[in-house]
Amino acid sequence: MKLEEKLKEELKAIENNELKREINELRFISPTVAIDKNNKKYTVFASNNYLGLTHHPNVIEEAKKACNFGTGSTGSRLTTGTSFEALELEKKLANFKHTESSLIFNTGYMTNLGVLYALTDPNDIIFSDALNHASIIDGCKITKATVKIYKHKDIEDLENKIQETDNRKLEETSQKFIVTDGIFSMDGDIAPLPELVKIAKKYNCCLIIDDAHAVGVIGKNGSGTASYFGLEKEVDIQIGTLSKALASEGGYVAGKQVFIDYLINKSRPFIFSTALSPSTIASAKEALAILENNSNYYLEKLSNNTKMMRKLLEEGGLAIVDGETPIIPIIIGSAGLATEFADTLLNKGILVSAIRPPSVPKGSSRLRLTISAAHSSEQIVNAGKIIIETWKKIKNKRNL
Ligand SMILES: *Cc1c(COP(=O)(O)O)cnc(C)c1O
Repeated sequence: MKLEEKLKEELKAIENNELKREINELRFISPTVAIDKNNKKYTVFASNNYLGLTHHPNVIEEAKKACNFGTGSTGSRLTTGTSFEALELEKKLANFKHTESSLIFNTGYMTNLGVLYALTDPNDIIFSDALNHASIIDGCKITKATVKIYKHKDIEDLENKIQETDNRKLEETSQKFIVTDGIFSMDGDIAPLPELVKIAKKYNCCLIIDDAHAVGVIGKNGSGTASYFGLEKEVDIQIGTLSKALASEGGYVAGKQVFIDYLINKSRPFIFSTALSPSTIASAKEALAILENNSNYYLEKLSNNTKMMRKLLEEGGLAIVDGETPIIPIIIGSAGLATEFADTLLNKGILVSAIRPPSVPKGSSRLRLTISAAHSSEQIVNAGKIIIETWKKIKNKRNL
């Protein structure tokens, strides 16, 4: 069979299962409002712009200024791609995370690949939460280490799996790693860090936490999950992204200097990819400064907005996953129904993502709302009303 025919058949099957993915064109005219090609406006509850800093005048200004140093970096970090701004940002990130050092990668995705790939050997074992982000899953896939998946947030299962391997004869140099999302990207729940720290200590594991959704959202100054639990000194490696609350692009890893030195020498996604552009770095740096200088304001606004939307949806009878983070999943079940719900909302000017397999397990398709500090109360109340009404109509139509 010709490759094209085979792919067409597979695409058809994806479509038949109501799982076809398509790219939508959008232009953000503010952190929470986007327009399409026909100038139709959408209130967006689907971006990771937790603090709305993508449109902050100072962030834009710093990005523009940095364009004077070139629009592209044109080299990898180890050749010509390390700008003054990159080193300054790394210092600031280390400071923010209370670690000795930090290292920027080109995306959060590449950070997970680059860290897991470089730090693990064939004799090592990685214990990974079942609901970890795809980039951690893919990072585990490309390592030569053994990977054990423990049930989501299930400390007992994790400990059992560690004990099973401890009973096996490990090489003297073998290392054990525990890797987890800080805030889980699809359910919005928080990792049980105090228990994970205990287990990591008891069994001598290196603990890695991915705070992509936690920075700017929880912890002191919005510095993430470790800080939220007061455990900054107990987590070995903290990974994050510059692309969500920090309003830019890129990823980073923060930890002891020895980890960073090793990654600079061994991490292929770091070594063999062109560095981020000066303006990308400059905008992340300014967003971080704004967060640090105004964290009370932003975190309070985000938390109030989150509470308001959660309360509205709960009172409207929607099956939202309980929690406190700005990721609000409304569990629907079938992929087709979730898509219908999201499409109807889109027609009404509300942009919310329908999340379907393989992003979530089969039968747990959902609408996934993300709240921003930049949403106004009016936007939240209005969207909440429309979401509740729309769901009632869909349910009636289908006799659910
Ligand atoms: C978004 C996300 C990433 C990827 O970060 P990018 O900078 O978008 O590549 C990694 N891990 C988690 C948990 C995420 O939510």
